[in-house]
Amino acid sequence: MTKAPWVNKDECISCGMCVDNVPGVFRFDDDNKAECYNPNGASEEEIQNDAIDVCPVSCISWRSDDEYLKSFS
Ligand code: SF4
Repeated sequence: MTKAPWVNKDECISCGMCVDNVPGVFRFDDDNKAECYNPNGASEEEIQNDAIDVCPVSCISWRSDDEYLKSFS
């Protein structure tokens, strides 16, 4: 894995689009903000098309820094 989707929770409006469209990757946390819990739960294309590109506030982006990627291992 060289990159993973990241939700800027400060911007998330909890609309549920990413969670509904790509449930293998995104879920709601205890504050009802979306988060990526499994970057390998869907293809990069699905994540891009069905979550990143449809988020109404554009708060999902790819991250490739080690600190973030290691948080899933
Ligand atoms: S699509 Fe965007 S605003 Fe909606 S729940 Fe997901 S991250 Fe939050």
